[in-house]
Amino acid sequence: MKCPACQNKLHEIVVAGIKTQACRGECGGLWFDRFQFKKIQALKSGIGKSLLMIERAEGVKIYRGAEHTCPACKTTLLYRHFFSVDGDTEINQCSKCSGFWIDLAGLAKLQSLPENQRKQAVEKYFATIIDKKISEMRLIHRDMEQQAQVLVQILQFLCPEDQWTG
Ligand SMILES: [Zn+2]
Ligand SMILES: [Zn+2]
Repeated sequence: MKCPACQNKLHEIVVAGIKTQACRGECGGLWFDRFQFKKIQALKSGIGKSLLMIERAEGVKIYRGAEHTCPACKTTLLYRHFFSVDGDTEINQCSKCSGFWIDLAGLAKLQSLPENQRKQAVEKYFATIIDKKISEMRLIHRDMEQQAQVLVQILQFLCPEDQWTG
């Protein structure tokens, strides 16, 4: 499988039984197929943090502004739920296979802040970037609300929930 954002080869990484395809050492994006969604639900928050902190290379995000094709379906364009250059974050989903392509480089960077600054910065990140988008998704229609729920669970898997529920 190839990275939809930078075209590098994705590496399969399994954390707590959750299988991901990760753009390790390049853009740091993560692919979650729909078979992981149910399993993620049952896990403690933050258990996949090593995936959030995956090794990234500087300056590989040349395709950030472009549309991405699904790494699994290959021809389907990913639907972009969220994209922020300043927040160094993007969240995309395939409308055909429902897999999520997620890049949370901005959130990963905040993890290296001293502890007294980190909590506030992470809360702000979620408040201004993620929560707003998720509430919008919930309002659109029921199917989108379900996808928003899955997205929250993936985010909780990657980042301990106590960091972002204030
Ligand atoms: Zn990549
Ligand atoms: Zn797909």
